[in-house]
Amino acid sequence: MEKCILCGRCVKVCDEVQGVGAIDYAYKGFGTKICPPFERDLDCEFCGQCVSICPTGALVAKPSLCKGRTRDVRRVRPSALLRLRLRRHLRCGSRTR
Ligand code: SF4
Repeated sequence: MEKCILCGRCVKVCDEVQGVGAIDYAYKGFGTKICPPFERDLDCEFCGQCVSICPTGALVAKPSLCKGRTRDVRRVRPSALLRLRLRRHLRCGSRTR
């Protein structure tokens, strides 16, 4: 939860939209974090609403862990010059200018 900015969107969607209340704020001040109420076991329906509404990517679905958010990732075709430089860089094993 290093990326969490404590915006509360996940708490709100879980409580008000889904009506589950599986997550909430815990502690105060710098120790505030998002977790199940009273840090009990997670009683979640795994609807994915919190994951889809999280603006920072602090909550991600397990299959997309460490892959970035698909809406943020865009494939681009590198230019010929860049491909050449990359090839040269990889062949030499060191950085070239
Ligand atoms: S929506 Fe994401 S950033 Fe906002 S409080 Fe929940 S986990 Fe933190």
